[in-house]
Amino acid sequence: MARRRVGHIIRRNGRKYGQASVEIKIAKDLEKSPQTMRREDEISFYSREYPLESFAVSESASAEWAADIREKVAPETSALYEQFQQEIESGISWVRESGDIAAVGIPTAADVTDVIRQKAYEIGYGEIGFTRFDRRFIYESRRGDVKNDLPNAICLAVEQEYSATQGIPGLDSERAQGDAYKKQIVFAKDLVGFISRLGFRTQVFGPAWHFGPMIPLFVEAGLGQLGVNGQLLSPHFGSRARLQIILTDANVKYDKPVDFGIPKFCEICQVCFTRCPGRAIQGQRIWFRGVEKSKLIFKRCRPIMARYDGCGVCMKVCPIQKYGLPEVMEHYIETGEVLGKGTPNLENYELGDKGYFRVGKLPVFTSEFFDMPLGRSEEYLSRKHARDLRSVDKPEQQEKLWSSYREAIEKSSNRQVKIVDMGMDLAE
Ligand code: SF4
Ligand code: SF4
Repeated sequence: MARRRVGHIIRRNGRKYGQASVEIKIAKDLEKSPQTMRREDEISFYSREYPLESFAVSESASAEWAADIREKVAPETSALYEQFQQEIESGISWVRESGDIAAVGIPTAADVTDVIRQKAYEIGYGEIGFTRFDRRFIYESRRGDVKNDLPNAICLAVEQEYSATQGIPGLDSERAQGDAYKKQIVFAKDLVGFISRLGFRTQVFGPAWHFGPMIPLFVEAGLGQLGVNGQLLSPHFGSRARLQIILTDANVKYDKPVDFGIPKFCEICQVCFTRCPGRAIQGQRIWFRGVEKSKLIFKRCRPIMARYDGCGVCMKVCPIQKYGLPEVMEHYIETGEVLGKGTPNLENYELGDKGYFRVGKLPVFTSEFFDMPLGRSEEYLSRKHARDLRSVDKPEQQEKLWSSYREAIEKSSNRQVKIVDMGMDLAE
């Protein structure tokens, strides 16, 4: 195919502190203004009238179900999640209480954007951007948790380790995800201390505990664009970017959204769409709550994630994740083609008991495979309890059912505050 004309060139810092800066050329025919992908009045309307809710709450019934399935079919994965839960519990508690940390320095009116950016980069964050904190994206159940009206969001991404990610789905990649979470806690403590000494307040969101979806803020801060796989594709890490936001009242300048050519590139690529084992990805974007976005079909994704190590094939097969955005865009300009598309190197994967899937082949599942309770666990458990009660008539049998119902409700509320359901951090 013919060589493409270059539309614009983006220059970024190197992916790690001290590395040379990079240039990303975007083809003219991939250009699309990020502003055309949002309708501000619709975002406001939905936020006001139909507030967002976290999947951990609104789909808690499936979380129950997934944890039970995982224990049965993938006990090693269950054990790994439990281990991570224990290892990062105190770190997540710190994140949850970070809004109460008082500033220790004396603030000045000086613009501190560059000093914070530099410090974050030195600490180890690979993508750093600033934007206004948009309160319209706060989950209904988190509204009381976002403190002090901090107006600015520092968007920060840590890279999930490359080689383990290429073996998705598997325990190594789940470990790599957990390791990225641990890094986020260490890095955030360092950066919060620094900002506090400058005299400013902060509140940290992520890992695992979020105020709401983070991707819209990362897009506003110029740190990438939403891929058809539902993940942020960041210039340095693609979909391996693990996201975190620190709110602050420090005096900072905002970055601007950047057109990385991703929305139009996804229309041509479609690899995640064709390779998803659950057929849970839609190739085309739709308007949803005022944003042009990729909506995954949750009930086709969750059953796969529960049984196959959090799945993640959509992350693994993304060429931007695998080869890097500069390389993918350069290849497109040179050839008009998607780097790696149609090759085993990019597209093949192994899915547990289903076997190895080459380009063009997908696993087949029965419709029962996707049977999964939807909605909130309290509602699911009470429906089930009412059904069970109708099937018995002796008082001692009823008492036994009431007792297991109480136990199930207790177990469920404990699970909802658990932090590591790595398959369910879709809320980002
Ligand atoms: S996690 Fe797996 S099942 Fe879910 S969308 Fe991605 S590839 Fe599909
Ligand atoms: S695999 Fe292709 S279509 Fe899917 S998110 Fe990545 S670039 Fe977009």
